[in-house]
Amino acid sequence: MSMSSEEPEPQRSLKRVIWQGENCLSCTWFRPNDPLNADILERGLCVEPRLKAYGLVVSGRDWCNLYKEVRQKQIDLIQEGKFKG
Ligand code: SF4
Repeated sequence: MSMSSEEPEPQRSLKRVIWQGENCLSCTWFRPNDPLNADILERGLCVEPRLKAYGLVVSGRDWCNLYKEVRQKQIDLIQEGKFKG
């Protein structure tokens, strides 16, 4: 018998709560309204090519299966107002 199975249920459940790392905030298609202060509550447009036409407003903590991780270079350019696309 492992140690974890002897723990009370509340403690075992807490260990299953994990942070969702892949969300709009860290997606290459997210265009936050305020790039300098964007956190997971930030709203912005999703410009993924197949979704762009819908003008979706998403928040940093949203997610979809078209997620693609943003590169630091893109974040830098967006924050400097020099990003094209
Ligand atoms: S809705 Fe999907 S594609 Fe659009 S920014 Fe969020 S994770 Fe990326």
